[in-house]
Amino acid sequence: MTLTEAFTAQLEALDKRALLRRRRRIDSPCGPLVEVAGRRLLAFCSNDYLGLAADPALVVRAQEGARLYGVGSGGSQFISGFYAPHQELEERLARFVGLPRALCFSSGYLANIGIITALLGPSDAVFSDELNHASLIDGVRLCGADRHVYPHLDMAALAAALASCRSARKLVASDAVFSMDGDLAPLPVLLALCEQYDAMLLVDDAHGFGVLGPQGRGSLAHFALAAPRILTMGTLGKAAGVAGAFVAGAEEVVEWLLQRARTYIFETGSPALLAHTTLAAIDLIESGDARRLHLQALIAQLRAGLQGLRWTLSESTTPIQPLIIGSNEDALALGTALLEQGLWVPVIRPPTVAPGTARLRISLSAAHTPSQVDRLIAALQRLG
Ligand SMILES: *Cc1c(COP(=O)(O)O)cnc(C)c1O
Repeated sequence: MTLTEAFTAQLEALDKRALLRRRRRIDSPCGPLVEVAGRRLLAFCSNDYLGLAADPALVVRAQEGARLYGVGSGGSQFISGFYAPHQELEERLARFVGLPRALCFSSGYLANIGIITALLGPSDAVFSDELNHASLIDGVRLCGADRHVYPHLDMAALAAALASCRSARKLVASDAVFSMDGDLAPLPVLLALCEQYDAMLLVDDAHGFGVLGPQGRGSLAHFALAAPRILTMGTLGKAAGVAGAFVAGAEEVVEWLLQRARTYIFETGSPALLAHTTLAAIDLIESGDARRLHLQALIAQLRAGLQGLRWTLSESTTPIQPLIIGSNEDALALGTALLEQGLWVPVIRPPTVAPGTARLRISLSAAHTPSQVDRLIAALQRLG
């Protein structure tokens, strides 16, 4: 078999098991209504929770950023890719989440990998929820520390693993809002365990930043938590509507990350126009109570409307509202039936979620209207 034949066979095997992934091309800006293959679809897919990704004021701000700083940064941030908006954004983010210092990365994926590999080595131990995001999992795998993966939200299992650990440094890593379930980690319990066993706590707030807490300050603010042992990672491509990520925490820890996080050091700095745009996005988040209230109302509307269907709506108070269907075939059929009616809801299957829990991952945005949510409810009721 030649090399290309071998890959053809691998791809065919994926296709046979209905595991071949396909992208759907969008020909319009991010928003509730998107143009796909000449059709207008009502989409419940994006992580644009506050509807900022195509906000007109941010588009103008991005144009201004391009005029002021060009489109590329030209270098890694330690050489020549660190511009005024980068520094200003780090300072703004630290103040916004109420921690001493922040450091930006060009994506959340790279942030998690850089953070964990900079903090831990082979004589250390890391504790990770089994449903954590792939970027945390990959950071855990790369860092070389002893790995303890605990069952989803099982605080007793985590406590037992921490109690029997003799490693030099310990780190507990958890999503704050789990991306395929929409549920919240019990951050106060996680912090208490970290205090008891002298571990650091890394909170991945990709889905909480901008949405949860007063003024959208995130999951730590939602639970009113602060401690020098906490690091929080927030992404800027979800509720903030732009791109990138940051980590915030104690001054010394963040300085260490600046010195050692390889995914920060060895990468071309993200375009300054993005930091310039994100600064304005943070203002919109901070003053965005109306958007968050509207979003909460949509969540309540959807949950009320989907009661009594034969599928289970996950216990979630966040904009991520998964409807658990069960088999891959049923979930795919439902996704297809919705699409025929012009409704686009992503179907999530194993291995992304556990076998037998294929689901529609409905995600809501403040850009949705109540009548758009009603359209989805009506369609699901008919199909149910
Ligand atoms: C999206 C996501 C990331 C990755 O962030 P990007 O900026 O998209 O790379 C990390 N963690 C969680 C929980 C996420 O949902």
